Amino acid sequence: MTADLIIIGGGPAGYVGAIRAAQLGKKVVCVEKERVGGTCLNWGCIPTKALLESAEMYRKMSQKAESYGLKTQGVQADWDAVVARSRSVSDRLCSGFDFLFKKHGIERVEGTASIPSPGVVEVTAADGSINRLEAPKILVATGARTREIPTFPMDGNRIVGSKEALTLPRIPESMLVIGSGAIGSEFSYIYNCLGTKVTLVEALPNILPNEDDEVCKLMERAFKKRGITCLTGAKVESVNTTDAGVEAHITRPGKPDTTVNAEICLVAVGVVPVVPEIQGLQLTERGFVQVNERYETNLPGVYAAGDCIGGVMLAHAASFEATQAVEGMFLPNFTPKKPTLVPGCTYCHPQVASVGKRERELKQAGIAYKVGKFPFQAIGRAVAAGETEGFIKLLFGAEHGELLGAHIVGEDATELIATPQLAISSELTDEDLHAMIFAHPTLSEAIHEATLAADGVQIHA
Ligand code: NAD
Repeated sequence: MTADLIIIGGGPAGYVGAIRAAQLGKKVVCVEKERVGGTCLNWGCIPTKALLESAEMYRKMSQKAESYGLKTQGVQADWDAVVARSRSVSDRLCSGFDFLFKKHGIERVEGTASIPSPGVVEVTAADGSINRLEAPKILVATGARTREIPTFPMDGNRIVGSKEALTLPRIPESMLVIGSGAIGSEFSYIYNCLGTKVTLVEALPNILPNEDDEVCKLMERAFKKRGITCLTGAKVESVNTTDAGVEAHITRPGKPDTTVNAEICLVAVGVVPVVPEIQGLQLTERGFVQVNERYETNLPGVYAAGDCIGGVMLAHAASFEATQAVEGMFLPNFTPKKPTLVPGCTYCHPQVASVGKRERELKQAGIAYKVGKFPFQAIGRAVAAGETEGFIKLLFGAEHGELLGAHIVGEDATELIATPQLAISSELTDEDLHAMIFAHPTLSEAIHEATLAADGVQIHA
């Protein structure tokens, strides 16, 4: 079979790249060994958000309802039904790809792809049969998988990764979570809501260590208040499986060693790239596919995008990269861009979202800046919602007032972040934002107030 473009992988990079190329009138084949949708739709972003909604609703019904004047009795988490809902959300979205691929005339080939030579893709199906495909352009979009800790590898039973954590046989009584990035923090929160005793271990000094320092501190306080034990600056020396679960030995410089016993251990210490068998392909030191500014690998006509090339490993960055790569292949005079202003979102409670520069980066770069910070507790909509935890922190250039970074922790932070993102990409200044009328009563008024606070003229605090 011959096409204009063969895409290996059907995740947020692969399927978006396929649709974009089809929109440009190209004949596209997408090779995928599992279901189209990638980790994001099948075993990541989407099913975790579905679990989170159940956990969050359970927390509100069982712990907060009375404070809203509501009486509830006998609220129970039916774990099988919670998991079934999460899987059905994933199924519903993934089944939409049949329609999307048909609409755009994209051919799907099921199996595992390898590239024996540029222009050729061999697909091995589950029954062992081999299908040879040819195209002048190939896009590798094979994603990433959970990084294992070699001294205590995952067994899928007691020591698990995020995929298994989505469908555990029951709500565990206790859980040890190693790593407090988005995955570790989101699962810690979900299982804590459902009644699991969670211990979260992070090697760096703060949980969610990629975020603004003040955000990290607030999140640690919020997690501790909810009963999650946070051990930061900690090293898990060993995890042994026992009849009851796992026993972990943890060291922390300057503090006594700790032993944590838990029913389940979730390993969430990042990901490693998945790279198909490709003759002569150049990789980076850390094993990612090496690409140039146009997403080209060292092999003629072979491109790569998404998690397998490293960089910002988020679904929305992967889709952007694939679109840029495809437009670079087929649009004359198009110069592909790399993702620069990528929002990061963590879906626990309070939510965390950020975009642009962090304060520590500005300090390191010697850039003069001013800070505008405003708490949700002084925002009417947040008080009415009973969700006053958190703040919005905006960083503006001291000289010209341009917005450089935004850090939000609180209710709906992941939705609110789009406004400062637009402001940064449009090079808006504090004065531009001062002059904007924000709707009342909304949580986004905190963006306005934080802007005013940067110049010491906030109204409600
Ligand atoms: P991560 O890299 O974001 O976080 C891993 C954390 O583990 C880091 O804080 C690191 O310091 C810590 N760590 C590493 N080794 C450790 C050790 N031995 N002991 C204790 N702590 C250790 O990775 P993740 O949370 O596993 O997520 C994987 C990928 O998926 C990331 O690229 C992430 O951005 C993405 N993801 C994003 C979302 C979201 O955007 N909401 C959700 C899930 C996953």
